[in-house]
Amino acid sequence: MSPHLSVVIPIYNEEENIKQLWMRLSAVLRENFDERGWEVILTDDGSRDKSLEMILEIAQSERRVKVVEFNRNYGQHAAIFAAFSQVSGQVVVTLDADLQNPPEEIPKLVAKIDEGFDVVGGWRSDRQENDSIFRTMPSKIVNAMTRKTTGIKLHDYGCMLRAYRRDVINAMLDCRERSSFIPALANSFAKRITEIPVAHAERAAGESKYGLWRLINLQFDLLTSFSLLPLQMLSVLGVVVAVLGFLLFIGLMIYRYVDPAGTVEGVFTLFAILFFFVGCQFIAFGLLGEYIGRIYVEVRDRPRYMIKKVHRKEE
Ligand code: UDP
Ligand code: MG
Repeated sequence: MSPHLSVVIPIYNEEENIKQLWMRLSAVLRENFDERGWEVILTDDGSRDKSLEMILEIAQSERRVKVVEFNRNYGQHAAIFAAFSQVSGQVVVTLDADLQNPPEEIPKLVAKIDEGFDVVGGWRSDRQENDSIFRTMPSKIVNAMTRKTTGIKLHDYGCMLRAYRRDVINAMLDCRERSSFIPALANSFAKRITEIPVAHAERAAGESKYGLWRLINLQFDLLTSFSLLPLQMLSVLGVVVAVLGFLLFIGLMIYRYVDPAGTVEGVFTLFAILFFFVGCQFIAFGLLGEYIGRIYVEVRDRPRYMIKKVHRKEE
């Protein structure tokens, strides 16, 4: 019989956290979900430390734990997707391995799904980070921009403590696109979405794997895969600029006709216009390039990741 709950955890160089994570997680699962059945799917995202050995050991001792091993590091979202392809539960919960999301909150999320919601997001009401301002500021910006681009008002897109109904997972798995941001993608398939505040601890050990640059990347992902707004703005801008240019041209013609000696001023005006146009063109090229780059990636149609092996203790 397939279990009710699948817990998905991406793991990348988390050797200091795995032991505690498993202790707390297994306690919660055994206490609350033994009757309905549960499983845990751990993706090793090409860790360079002992994480893989440690989670394989867990899988050896517990039949309900599956390990997906990547051949190298593909990133958190790819790791979660790979685990999604292996889930058999009706409710899927994602969780970070660094214990920033307390496993003790899982029953609350599942209860909400049982109430009939498709997606339940955790919301870090008391976000306390030992991470630097370079980590917290960007994610505030990401949250605000995500709200704008996706049009769905959620407090916190960055929080990975989330629960999904199985059909939402299946829909996400059918997406062939490469740059996917799971919380936003899930919301585009879900009808009933809710959020509950969850506790948020400091990272138990190790360092955050997200710097400013990865967050900027994430933002570009969101902007281009969830909205056509930049393209539409581009055309609006184009029209405005063209009209202004035309009017200026007419103005200059009249000016020359009225005062043929005033050429110096005219040159300065032209320079100003030129710089303005060059600036606009660069903005336009940049945005077009972003889309074209994505088309390129999409057209190559490379597999998003390669699973070396799916580990599971033999019966
Ligand atoms: N992670 C991953 N691959 C990566 C980076 C991160 O699987 O390339 C995992 C990591 O092990 C953790 C989760 O994603 O379980 C969140 O990572 P992190 O805590 O560094 O992110 P933050 O909490 O700063 O957003
Ligand atoms: Mg973290």
